[in-house]
Amino acid sequence: MGTHDPHGFPGRLIVVEGIDGSGKSTQLSLLQTFLVSEGYDVSFTEWNSSPVVKNTTKRGKKKNLFSPTTFSLIHATDFADRHERSILPPLQAGLIVLADRYAYTAFARDSARGCDRDWLRNLYAFATRPDLALYFKVDIDTAVARITGGRIQLKFHEAGMDLGLSSDPITSFRIFQSRVLEEYGRVAEEFGLTVLDGARSVVEQQREMRRLVRPILKGLRRTLAPRAPAASVPAAGARREPEVSAP
Ligand code: ADP
Repeated sequence: MGTHDPHGFPGRLIVVEGIDGSGKSTQLSLLQTFLVSEGYDVSFTEWNSSPVVKNTTKRGKKKNLFSPTTFSLIHATDFADRHERSILPPLQAGLIVLADRYAYTAFARDSARGCDRDWLRNLYAFATRPDLALYFKVDIDTAVARITGGRIQLKFHEAGMDLGLSSDPITSFRIFQSRVLEEYGRVAEEFGLTVLDGARSVVEQQREMRRLVRPILKGLRRTLAPRAPAASVPAAGARREPEVSAP
């Protein structure tokens, strides 16, 4: 990213990265539940979800119309739109923004597709620097086992089938994601991503994730008090009474 400076907004930006099947979405979702229960205002955004490019992406993917460059530009457009609409406003309003994939995904995936590394970094130069960027590092075997265990089919682009590496989706996934993994290694070093061992249990990783997140929450305002034991939880939507101060 062009700017390596802290963003200076009142909110916090936490991003997760990793190859498909690394378990990053599972961890981010658990973190979100935890932060909300602690009384923080949280906003979630994920890769490739902007309405601006949704139909183009769908059509282009279906007909395999994209080249690595046009595919990369579509993702950059998606990101630019979400950056303006879903990342900056909540950061300015003092919320915690949780992002499932960030510019680092483009650096890793698109360079694995053959895009120039410097060109990619320039393209995303506007991206706000996260307060915490976690990289869930897993080996290909672990990722394949998780994905094929939970789903019937690998997605076409996730397996890099557009690159014509192999007609077998699993072989193609292995070749393509190995390249992505190598690029992630580079990116993690260059941008100082915090590396977590994604092969460990869900619980162990969540414990470490919370430990890493805690220091960056210092000074951040909460809307609600942390969730109290069940008996004293206020009804949904109930406001806390203001503190009574002695005259
Ligand atoms: P990603 O977002 O990196 O693609 P997900 O969080 O969607 O990964 O997880 C992919 C699959 O692996 C899911 O079926 C999920 O339940 C499973 N999974 C996630 N974390 C772990 C873990 N630590 N150990 C075993 N399986 C996991």
